Amino acid sequence: MAAAAGVPVAETLSDVPSVPGLRLQAALEARLARAGVTVVTGELRAAGGAPGDRVEVGDAAILAGSWVLATGRFVGGGLVRHGALAERTLGLPVEAAEGHDAGVHLAGRPATSLTVRDRRAPQPLLSAGLRVDPSLRPLDGRGRPVHPRLFAAGALVGGHEHASDGTGLGVAILTGWLAGRAAAARG
Ligand SMILES: Cc1cc2nc3c(=O)[nH]c(=O)nc-3n(C[C@H](O)[C@H](O)[C@H](O)COP(=O)(O)OP(=O)(O)OC[C@H]3O[C@@H](n4cnc5c(N)ncnc54)[C@H](O)[C@@H]3O)c2cc1C
Repeated sequence: MAAAAGVPVAETLSDVPSVPGLRLQAALEARLARAGVTVVTGELRAAGGAPGDRVEVGDAAILAGSWVLATGRFVGGGLVRHGALAERTLGLPVEAAEGHDAGVHLAGRPATSLTVRDRRAPQPLLSAGLRVDPSLRPLDGRGRPVHPRLFAAGALVGGHEHASDGTGLGVAILTGWLAGRAAAARG
């Protein structure tokens, strides 16, 4: 292609269902299969549950000592707005930040007050998400880990705004890797 186009050509990753995204998905699934990992697909229903509890994923019942929650933000469905911003699967506290102020108290503000008219300015609504400790464990309103073996990764983790700061899949890949390692280390 580079020869035909007469310019350097590179392939970049993007969202599924882009072709590079589909290839990455296929490569990940092949790697998981080779590593002997069983992949279960379906909606995780775990309201009120915690690592160590038996939960349902689609038609399967799963028991795991550690969990990594990576359900995305508004597009993925990890975050919803029912009056206040809420984490949909486990009901974890959601934090928003505006200027020097940050905390779960901002998550209850009207959406209009978490967005600003200048679209180039930081949009508090779009960086809302879970607050985590250095091990990527979600924190409660007092800053304590919600559970010692519960981890979060990807867009669900707050504090970055992929639409304007260029983080995007970089955060998802890095935090997924770190959270997965942390979860595996705790069994
Ligand atoms: C329009 C758009 C364009 C973008 N373009 C780029 C780009 O060019 N480059 C870039 O780097 N980033 C881009 N991003 C950002 C990037 O897509 C996200 O940062 C990334 O997808 C986050 O990955 P994630 O796995 O954390 O969440 P998601 O990709 O949102 O994945 C979360 C998954 O969890 C599933 N899920 C949610 N709840 C449950 C549940 N209870 N049970 C089971 N599954 C559940 C969802 O169905 C979804 O499949 C773009 C984002 C958007 C919206």
